Amino acid sequence: MTGIGKLFVISAPSGAGKTTLIKKILNRFKNLSYSVSHTTRLPRKNERDSIDYFFIHPDDFEEKIAQDHWLEWAKVHDNYYGTSKEFVGNSLEKGQNLLLDIDVQGAGQIMASDIDLVSIFIMPPSFEVLSQRLENRKTDTKEVIAKRLANAKSEIMQKDLYQYVVINDDLDEAIEKLCSIFEKEMA
Ligand code: ADP
Ligand code: 5GP
Repeated sequence: MTGIGKLFVISAPSGAGKTTLIKKILNRFKNLSYSVSHTTRLPRKNERDSIDYFFIHPDDFEEKIAQDHWLEWAKVHDNYYGTSKEFVGNSLEKGQNLLLDIDVQGAGQIMASDIDLVSIFIMPPSFEVLSQRLENRKTDTKEVIAKRLANAKSEIMQKDLYQYVVINDDLDEAIEKLCSIFEKEMA
């Protein structure tokens, strides 16, 4: 591989379908890697350490803040989430295209830096559908869902900061729209 890789940043309110869409995109584009984030939240029952997230203790996370380890980090729904600066830098230098699934605060930090990125925001078709999807997923308590829905409002208000906004109503249509963005940007 030669040259600098492309950095893709995807954000969405929780439950919009970002994880579902990202899995499809990663299957479709073999020249695209996923940046596994670090988080202090507990794993969900189907999540594996170092594949879905690196699950770490809040003390370790805070130590790494002090060491300037993170390219970006944020507290989202009461937990820390962060992206390793070293991992992203090394991957892009090797010419690897990279996909980051991060929240609007983290995306804003990268947008404010001198890093070149392609930013995509995934929108649910409506607030009611978002709420239904979070309930159907059955991974979060009522309290956690309420917090995620409350945050969704302020996240959606920031969607225009992104270069692309894709509505995830019909799943196949959303996948096709995303694929055409990735094809165009990686051409
Ligand atoms: P996120 O990663 O954005 O929190 P998920 O990918 O976990 O969201 O999706 C939330 C729930 O909605 C999951 O149960 C998923 O299967 C479902 N889902 C995702 N996209 C669609 C869609 N287009 N239509 C219906 N259900 C969807
Ligand atoms: P979840 O707990 O549902 O996996 O993720 C919650 C939110 O944290 C999502 O909006 C997701 O994009 C965001 N997130 C995941 N990893 C990171 C990260 O490394 N940095 C930031 N800023 N947000 C992240």
